[in-house]
Amino acid sequence: LTEPFLTATNILTKIESNGHRAYFVGGCVRDYLLNRPIGDVDIATSAKPEIIQQLFNKVIPVGIEHGTVVVRYKKESYEVTTFRIDGSYSDNRRPDEVEFVNEIDADLARRDFTINALAMSKGGHIIDLFEGRRDLKEKIIRTVGNGYERFAEDPLRIIRALRFTSQLGFSLAPDTKVHMKEAAHLVNTLAVERLTNEFSKLFAGNDIRKAVNYMKEIQVDSFLPVFRSFPNLIKKLPSNIHSLMSFSEVIAYMHIVEPSISIVHWVKEWKCSNKIKKDALHLVDSYYLYKEFGVNSMLVYQLKKPYLAPFLRIVTLADPTVSLSMEKLLTINEKLPIHSKVDLSINGQEIIDLFPFMRRGPWIRQIMDNLEKEIVLGNLRNNNKEIKEWIRWNPPETN
Ligand code: ATP
Ligand code: MG
Repeated sequence: LTEPFLTATNILTKIESNGHRAYFVGGCVRDYLLNRPIGDVDIATSAKPEIIQQLFNKVIPVGIEHGTVVVRYKKESYEVTTFRIDGSYSDNRRPDEVEFVNEIDADLARRDFTINALAMSKGGHIIDLFEGRRDLKEKIIRTVGNGYERFAEDPLRIIRALRFTSQLGFSLAPDTKVHMKEAAHLVNTLAVERLTNEFSKLFAGNDIRKAVNYMKEIQVDSFLPVFRSFPNLIKKLPSNIHSLMSFSEVIAYMHIVEPSISIVHWVKEWKCSNKIKKDALHLVDSYYLYKEFGVNSMLVYQLKKPYLAPFLRIVTLADPTVSLSMEKLLTINEKLPIHSKVDLSINGQEIIDLFPFMRRGPWIRQIMDNLEKEIVLGNLRNNNKEIKEWIRWNPPETN
């Protein structure tokens, strides 16, 4: 075994030497077998949460009533969850109650998909009760047990299945797909935050196209915020959709192709963060600037570097014939004389001093804005003397 498992092995050893069983479980085992980068290392154990709290120095009881605590060890966090089976999901957020069990078998059986129902001992031995390894090899998402029942129990699994097709590029097992379609209406009942969380991962996956095609096929859109009120909206998610899109890009793009739905509406319906809202609005503003004036230094300046790639993805999706490249945007960005107002070779006080008889007021900002524009567009050099000269020729408007 290699890192991050090596460090985590010490946790398993400690639990085991106290007479309990413990395994690596879920996504980390899947990703290890797929040779993908490993995210969080999750641990399943026969020990009750109180025992884990006694065994380790730093334990955070994040979900102790469901058997989950976080063990802090060598500056890393590990979720340690007691073997359990889930009760019903009446609020569609989390099971009402869980029952702790003694064996890992039942714990694996409660998990959503065969590829996520794998456990691994500290010696690297794999426990695979549902042919998860076969499905990994064949690149298939298949529910553990009867699909309809599992999706009815927690309809979020429908969205998770789609998310994994995007992240892993896997296909849906034929009967899993049928059951997703049959249970799709239950997605209506889910807490929006859970949906948004899975969709963020879906959009950021490598094979988003695959997931979107499945979404269309199982018609889950009729039960998703915004989409359910606009029956053909899903068709506007293009089939040439890029990988690695963020939620804000998707919203911005959807607003561009369907302007009657505002960004604010998207954000409200999907309960997005303020950051997503801000980013989406910024991308849309930039897109309209681009439509009006084309690509110029002012556009690149206003976008700012982190938004160049998202902007390019949106533009090429909205207009596939456009010939705009990342190189071109980066070159313009490199050549910008300034990257923000802070870089101006003059400050507010110097501007005020130029007009000793004027009261302070919005004119100062107005001059700054004009200077910024002239310099970015290359009409004026960012040089204190020349700037002062320019201001004398373009004095503040008085009224
Ligand atoms: P990622 O790498 O994105 O974290 P993951 O497989 O670890 O993927 P998590 O959401 O972190 O996904 O869940 C951890 C594990 O818990 C899953 O691998 C799966 O075994 C189980 N699991 C999570 N959510 C559900 C669910 N809704 N129903 C059943 N099992 C679930
Ligand atoms: Mg995980």
